[in-house]
Amino acid sequence: MLLSTSIDDSGKLFANYAKRLENLDIKVLRDFLYHLPHRYDDFSLITPIEKIQAGEVVTIQVTIASIKNNFTKNHKQIQKAVVTDGTGEIEIIWFNQPFITKTLRSGEHVAFSGRVETDGFKLLMTNPDFEVIPANGQTIHTGRLVPIYPETHGVSSKWLRRQTYKLLSTNEFEEFLPPSLVDQLGLMSYRDALYKIHFPDTLAEAEKARERLSFDEVFLLQLAAMKRKTEWKQTLKGHIFQLNPYEKQIDAFWESLPFEPTNAQKRVIHEIFLDFSKGEVMNRLLEGDVGSGKTVVAAIAMYISFLNGFQSVLMAPTQILAEQHYQTIFKLLQPLGVRVGLQTGNKKINNAAIPNGGEESHPTQNQSLSRDPSTTLRSAQDDKLPFHILVGTHAVLSDKVNFDKLGLVVIDEQHRFGVAQRTLIQEKGINPHVLTMTATPIPRTVALTLYGDLDLSVLDEMPKGRKIIKTWFVPAQKRDGAYLWIGEKVKEGDQVFIVCPFIEESESMTTVKAASVEFERLQKHIFPNLKLGLLHGKQKASEKEQVLQAFRDKRIDILVATPVVEVGIDIPNATIIVIEAADRFGLAQLHQLRGRVGRGTKQSYCLLFTESKSLETTHRLKSLEHIHNGAELSELDLKMRGAGELYGTLQHGRRWLKIASFGDFRLIELAKQQAGKIFSQLKDHHALEAKVEEITLKQVSPN
Ligand code: ADP
Ligand code: MG
Repeated sequence: MLLSTSIDDSGKLFANYAKRLENLDIKVLRDFLYHLPHRYDDFSLITPIEKIQAGEVVTIQVTIASIKNNFTKNHKQIQKAVVTDGTGEIEIIWFNQPFITKTLRSGEHVAFSGRVETDGFKLLMTNPDFEVIPANGQTIHTGRLVPIYPETHGVSSKWLRRQTYKLLSTNEFEEFLPPSLVDQLGLMSYRDALYKIHFPDTLAEAEKARERLSFDEVFLLQLAAMKRKTEWKQTLKGHIFQLNPYEKQIDAFWESLPFEPTNAQKRVIHEIFLDFSKGEVMNRLLEGDVGSGKTVVAAIAMYISFLNGFQSVLMAPTQILAEQHYQTIFKLLQPLGVRVGLQTGNKKINNAAIPNGGEESHPTQNQSLSRDPSTTLRSAQDDKLPFHILVGTHAVLSDKVNFDKLGLVVIDEQHRFGVAQRTLIQEKGINPHVLTMTATPIPRTVALTLYGDLDLSVLDEMPKGRKIIKTWFVPAQKRDGAYLWIGEKVKEGDQVFIVCPFIEESESMTTVKAASVEFERLQKHIFPNLKLGLLHGKQKASEKEQVLQAFRDKRIDILVATPVVEVGIDIPNATIIVIEAADRFGLAQLHQLRGRVGRGTKQSYCLLFTESKSLETTHRLKSLEHIHNGAELSELDLKMRGAGELYGTLQHGRRWLKIASFGDFRLIELAKQQAGKIFSQLKDHHALEAKVEEITLKQVSPN
């Protein structure tokens, strides 16, 4: 069967397992091979029975002398076998596993692996792993290093092992890397790597196998990205947006701003202008710390699109952020004659109004399209368009929304949108330019690996006058003092965020409950005279919006929230953020959280609470007191705690890299270098080219 066959189509046995396997991300047969062991049980010591000792983990290869079901005094079943290998005999016991006597019969040649125990009189094994020894003697569950996989309900490592072994022995795995490259880098062959990652003879071999597969992963990702990028540039003609005819309008835009753009903003805008003038499709990633001023950059880009007669879309990951963006963009651009609309999942704007309803149709909601056609500074833009800029959540990608003249798509918080969505976007309108923005501080190496098909711009400078957020590490004994201080600051008119930690990986009910409990405690016992609010991810959007509005209107002094609280929330009067159990967060994540304050001109503060007494934690958290640069902190995370931290920051359930680790700079660097070298001759390496094609297709399919 082809490795690309889906589990559903792979016969009845598999079809029954399909749902469960999906939990493990196994959707086609090949996925079994890439569902890698996270450890190995060492059952490689094969010992004659006469030599075994209590406490040892061994494998014995024996014949079953007898096996039967017994009942204990309290009517529990136990299964007992006596086995022998000619050097001695030993008893094997199972508890309550009556099926064993149907699986194993006397006279059978079987291997058992596990720890040898003693009942005080004699040696025995309980619940060992076992397998009937096949005619060719090749065992996979015993007598060797045995792979242990991430499991899910109803799918055991033993079962996975069997399927993987079958696939490995019934398929050819032709080398797809050029032999010279394999040689030069001293890599394991593809076939060996796949085999040895599952069934290694030694741990060193497993490591070598992992290295090869990690290399493949980054190398292929990189090649696929380069390929996409080149194709994008060569085959897709981008709209040319002109600037010269609109100099006056652009100047007016700058003058309308209440501030002077930073040099970084100027540089990035220049990079975008260059893209616009090239006739290629722009596909640019804008990385900038929270508060670095990405929105204005997006606004000017969309304004240029408007001036050239094109529509733009601005997508935010959540409804709240979409609404906030809508307000900002509306304020900036509506006075310049731009009609700005809002569409989110909840606010169902009559879809006829969006695609082709023209001037007559009207959204049914309060946040309607701006209908004020103030015609000052008009140029090429089309009066017939129902909107010039549409702000929304991913709902704007739904099929129902069509765009007459879509020229630019801006995506805020890139990491929540994948390649698939980007491709969807490219299909909307005619090859719109795409600008993705992220506040996620990711090290450059990682950015370039994950987003190799994008051009990268970085806003590495904060607006002038922005004070750094004074950050304090607050150990348990200083907590009460901190609360007193917060109370004083609130009296002076400051507002406060208190962030509770995730109890579990994502925002579960447990997390929400813990936040609610903390909210009650603070309200009752710590700040009885202040007004507290609670915000968490399980609230309805309307409820969240109400709480936020109350906070904005200063009807709430202290907002207790779970970490899902939108990264981009902009409440200038909130000047203090308290982060509970700060030790549970990565540095980059903490940095992102603290970016919720420091948005106004007032001095802002971040208090890192922890009950941890560990020196390492103290040291780690204290680095936030003097480092105020997101990228630097994310590099530190990577060094101190490994790549796991990064996944937290990326707020993404799925791992970006399945095999390789972002912490492995050397390997990532090597793979990228080699990809760069070979890319121009990809055509000469058919097997490699096919492989790249395969993963390119996989990346752009909806799942
Ligand atoms: P982010 O990069 O986090 O999206 P925003 O675009 O929301 O940041 O900007 C944060 C705040 O800084 C906004 O209130 C914005 O008006 C302001 N701002 C942006 N650029 C500048 C600048 N050059 N000088 C002063 N304030 C600025
Ligand atoms: Mg933002």
